[in-house]
Amino acid sequence: MLDVCLLGTGGMMPLPQRHLTACMIRAEGASLLIDCGEGTQVALRLQGWSFKSIGTILFTHMHGDHVAGLPGLLLTIGNAGRTEPVMIYGPKGTARVVRGLMMAAPELPFSVEIQETGETEYKAGALYVRTFRVDHNVPCLGYRVELKRLPEFQPDRAREQGIPLRAWNPLQKGNTVVIDGVTYTPDMVLGEARKGLSVCYCTDTRPTSSIIEGAKDADLFICEGMYGEEEKKSRAREYKHMTFREAAILAKAAGAKELWLTHFSPSLMRPQEVLGEAREVFPNSYAGRERMTKTLRYDDETAES
Ligand SMILES: [Zn+2]
Ligand SMILES: [Zn+2]
Repeated sequence: MLDVCLLGTGGMMPLPQRHLTACMIRAEGASLLIDCGEGTQVALRLQGWSFKSIGTILFTHMHGDHVAGLPGLLLTIGNAGRTEPVMIYGPKGTARVVRGLMMAAPELPFSVEIQETGETEYKAGALYVRTFRVDHNVPCLGYRVELKRLPEFQPDRAREQGIPLRAWNPLQKGNTVVIDGVTYTPDMVLGEARKGLSVCYCTDTRPTSSIIEGAKDADLFICEGMYGEEEKKSRAREYKHMTFREAAILAKAAGAKELWLTHFSPSLMRPQEVLGEAREVFPNSYAGRERMTKTLRYDDETAES
């Protein structure tokens, strides 16, 4: 199970009723935040999710509407009692900007590690993160975040093969075990591969083939839609953003299950009214709303499990 919250839907500047675009993902007690513009901590406070559990912060790029909320957020995470390290990832140039911002948040009760990446993969708590380059006017990354699922454990096979009971749990978690000189491997007791859960997050970019790859079969694709009407396409091109329709074309090409549009221009006050632009191409499109939330579950997982 994985929870996603779109903390805000604004691009460029926060507005009285619209926080800047940021996204929080929770799984197995740990949280990951993508982007942190001015006021993101206010949106998170309204959502009521924990500050203390934020162990990873991913930045798409270093424009102010995505980073300026960092010092305040770090101080609030500290006030919430976190002492474990916080990892910060972003594209080239992240370390310099983050270190500068952190001068306004000295003496945190936890350590902060900053890593600049290109296209890569890493683990953040229970979540797997894959990064890919997108096309903005500064280095910018898109993110695919996955909660992988191990294949089903088959106790009958373990019993048949006489595998000692104490090896079952590590094997179930995908680890190889050696007991009394005998090696037991997970494939001896695990069944077919099972589909995990995936969220793709892209903002501040023109459409790219890397986005289609990153959002492939995603359960949820959160994508910028700076401009609603297709007439604004030349503006979108000029400022390296997208229209609703362009985002929907990506969602369709990727085979994503659901599209949430976000990062609206301050001039786009009622994104809902132009949603048809996206739905004509990709029917399962939604205009992002403040603190829009969704819980993703495995195919056979129920709300109670
Ligand atoms: Zn932006
Ligand atoms: Zn930008």
